[in-house]
Amino acid sequence: MFELSSEVRTADDDVAAALAYARSVAGRSHVAEDLAMHWALAHPEAARLAAARPGPALTWRLTDLAVADAPSEDLLEALGAWERTAAWVAAEQARVLQELQRRVAASTWAQKGLREDVAGTLAVSGRAAGILCDRARELTAAPEVHDALREGVLSVRKADVLLRDTGSLPASEARRVHDALIAQAPLLTAPQLGAAARRAVLELDPHAAEARHRQAREERCVVLEPAADCMATIRAYLPATDAVRAMRALDAVAAAAAPEDPRGIDARRADALVDVLAAVLDAGVSVQATSPGRRRRRTPRLNLTISTDALAGATSTAGFLDGYGPVLPSLARRLAHEAAWHFVRTDPATGEALEQPGSRYRPPEALRSAIIARDVTCTFPGCRVSAQVCDLDHTVPFDDTREAAEQTRRSNLTALCRHHHRLKTHGRWTPSRDPDSGVVVWTSPGGKPYTRDPVEAPGEPDRRLARREADQGGGDVGAGHQGAGRDGDVGDDRSSLTGADPPDPAPF
Ligand SMILES: [Zn+2]
Repeated sequence: MFELSSEVRTADDDVAAALAYARSVAGRSHVAEDLAMHWALAHPEAARLAAARPGPALTWRLTDLAVADAPSEDLLEALGAWERTAAWVAAEQARVLQELQRRVAASTWAQKGLREDVAGTLAVSGRAAGILCDRARELTAAPEVHDALREGVLSVRKADVLLRDTGSLPASEARRVHDALIAQAPLLTAPQLGAAARRAVLELDPHAAEARHRQAREERCVVLEPAADCMATIRAYLPATDAVRAMRALDAVAAAAAPEDPRGIDARRADALVDVLAAVLDAGVSVQATSPGRRRRRTPRLNLTISTDALAGATSTAGFLDGYGPVLPSLARRLAHEAAWHFVRTDPATGEALEQPGSRYRPPEALRSAIIARDVTCTFPGCRVSAQVCDLDHTVPFDDTREAAEQTRRSNLTALCRHHHRLKTHGRWTPSRDPDSGVVVWTSPGGKPYTRDPVEAPGEPDRRLARREADQGGGDVGAGHQGAGRDGDVGDDRSSLTGADPPDPAPF
């Protein structure tokens, strides 16, 4: 990262900051690096803030920033710089706490007393003090995470997620996972980072992961927790496949509501849960009883993407359970004969589902499955809406005068949730897929690129590693082109679950 100094800024400084910035945000996409460089040279102060290391110099500069007069580009990067500064503060605070912990390490009672001292000094609850103490202790065993927090590469939340989701591993193995994931962390949201960590944990030692899963299954439970205002929470701790199965069933009942139903999706799911269970009590009453105006129910589809080798038990590559994330391949094997589950089988050599180009505007099911398996979620950076309920957008808009098979194909279809589909159509945000790296680059109306790395398909770990190494070697990448004009989407009516979507962008 770039060290800010209080000296007078020169043009060379601006170029250095632009380069540092472009390299830090572009990931493995050369297209994105060019866009980022262009943006950074147009907004040098913003780029300097974006690439600056957290520390006293940056804190001083941020405090000095004339907020009312600064351009919006600078303010956005100041926001990011304060976030990194917060991470640096947390890392330094943990360093102090680690020293205090070291001084009481010999006595259990002194350690407990330290927590009370922390709680009293900060005027926080014992639980809140415990969180600080636990984080400091975990960071002692995870120096790479502590360094990344100090550098602002990890936010406090991401550091916590990484420590939590690798907490079941022995320290040395956890450090290997930390090392592999920290570099990707700036481009991932905390939930995405958590999913990547859980996947790495599953694949690092599959036997240990199986044993932990078997033990955790034994603890499955449903509990009722009273809440204020005469409400209550029912919490179920379930194997991931059962949890997703239950949620899909609730979604299906909720989606059967009449179009004019004023209830939101959360309320409809909650009512569906009660309806289903009440029907069990009221023997003989079917929850499928149709009332006028109800939509025809779609059978919920349960999707699990897994390589053919892993499904056959030949490898332990994690599968991907739609609506949840990475799962042990043994869970997939257990479900292989159940009709409700749709398996997207991927080629173990390439990690990709097979493609069949469409003969029409709407992609055939095999192509649809291939896009869903490739994109996994909406392709806006950080968006976690399942590709299963996304629109499949023609990146270069569908043109009736051209051959359909040339357009309704894998390279021109991208999963977009309704919100981000509308952002593209109305908000002048432009996505393009870098055909070589698979990185989707979204360019804001101001020209700033945001990248979304391809989600690792459940291919073979060795191949993914090889690809990373190849990426580091570099190479030319052609730019995907994004045209304006008529926008095409292939909607899935399950996306209407999200409630009051206006009827744009036009479906055809
Ligand atoms: Zn989205």
